[in-house]
Amino acid sequence: MGITANEELIAKVVGEVISSLNITYAPASAQAPAQAQAGIYNEMEAAIEAAAISQQVVQKMSMDQREKIISLIRSKTKENAEKLARLAVSETGMGNVGHKILKHHLVAEKTPGTEDIITTAWSGDLGLTLVEMGPFGVIGAITPSTNPSETVICNTIGMLAGGNTIVFNPHPAAAKTSMLAINLVNEASREAGGPHAIAFTVFEPTLKSSEIMMKHPRIGLIVATGGPGVVEAVLSSGRRGIGAGAGNPPVVVDETADILKAAKDIINGCTFDNNLPCIAEKAIVCLDSVSDDLIKHMIGEQGCYLASNAEIDKLTRLVLTQKGLNRDCVGKDAKTLLSLIGVKASDEIRCIIFEDEKEHPLIAEELMMPILGLVRAKDFDDAVSKAVWLEHGNHHSAHIHSHDVVNITKYAKAIDTAILVKNAPSYAALGYGGEGFCSFTIASRTGEGLTSARSFTKQRRCVMSESLCIR
Ligand code: NAD
Repeated sequence: MGITANEELIAKVVGEVISSLNITYAPASAQAPAQAQAGIYNEMEAAIEAAAISQQVVQKMSMDQREKIISLIRSKTKENAEKLARLAVSETGMGNVGHKILKHHLVAEKTPGTEDIITTAWSGDLGLTLVEMGPFGVIGAITPSTNPSETVICNTIGMLAGGNTIVFNPHPAAAKTSMLAINLVNEASREAGGPHAIAFTVFEPTLKSSEIMMKHPRIGLIVATGGPGVVEAVLSSGRRGIGAGAGNPPVVVDETADILKAAKDIINGCTFDNNLPCIAEKAIVCLDSVSDDLIKHMIGEQGCYLASNAEIDKLTRLVLTQKGLNRDCVGKDAKTLLSLIGVKASDEIRCIIFEDEKEHPLIAEELMMPILGLVRAKDFDDAVSKAVWLEHGNHHSAHIHSHDVVNITKYAKAIDTAILVKNAPSYAALGYGGEGFCSFTIASRTGEGLTSARSFTKQRRCVMSESLCIR
């Protein structure tokens, strides 16, 4: 007979308390509360109840105590970057270990912590008014398979800084990697003198556990990072939600661009982690006058393979099946994709390029693999309208290579995306080779943009009448 959520919670909490006293304890339940698994439950309800208990502790902690945990999360992320990267690639079959290591260092170093929580004050004849950022309580976070541990760590740093605890429902295909990250952040909490767990989840995350989480009354905010399905589900749940959804970022190249650099930046961005990031270049729109030059440099110096029409037809059938996007191709490298259509390519080949109209399915669809179609434009206005069409109204990310500020401004206004990178690889938007902080939850749909600690807080106005103004 299965144990209920309450029994599970009681057994686990008792086990955790006893284990913190260094007493050996073996609960009768099916699941031992080993410290390494603190925060991970059989039932979603039990995970949420435990997160609510932990949040009571976190809310009372000083900002300095929260920051101590965050600092340990940062160092543990760096120490375990390779382990997390290797596990993610082996578990999901997607991405590139070296790039994933870089992503973990980036998230560890550039995700804002408690410094992002600020107070606004008005002081005058009528007294002092403050607006302070308070926690939502328990946040339900849904995370993707493409950046699994990076998103868990990034969300935990920001959400904890805001005084919340988190219940994750990770992508089932990346559950082990996500749980390793959850174990790391919880270990950091214990070592810094915080609660046994600040991040919670279930051993087997499913759509069902996600639904339970979205409807649970103790969840104050839902943060969904993923494709259109999950964002739609969250936004129709009737609960407060942050939706970080899909993108299909076009990159425009005009005749004022440094074409050699554009070729390099575009291919570096597009091939980063085998094109998994939602911000990565997914289509090129290039002015006709410089297209040949750009293609020449992409092939010549950037390891691109210019596919023939017949090869592109084969790739289209392989990648976009009748059931939709072939998940077995997502996050694979160019050499592997070419081998699947019978083309033997050298190790130098990083990206498959081709030319076609914007409607070609390998250009119009978000593929998340290094296949990059180039669409020619007769002039800049034509380039803007093609790029806007390709972005599909996601308002997520777009990029441009140009030194004409009028063109850049026109494009920025027309495409209206949360991210617009100029003259750099797309990953500059994450603070890698660009100014600014890092986030792996880019709330394109609900408008927060790159989320950080402050996105996970409620504003509270505190008014002191006719006192404390000491000017
Ligand atoms: P996915 O949409 O398949 O899964 C994301 C998460 O949502 C998973 O945890 C999944 O289990 C859950 N999920 C999916 N459908 C659901 C539903 N109907 N109800 C509840 N939960 C549901 O995404 P993926 O393949 O892992 O990631 C790639 C997609 O995510 C791409 O579209 C990419 O652009 C997007 N993405 C966006 C961001 C961002 O910050 N905006 C970041 C990473 C990925």
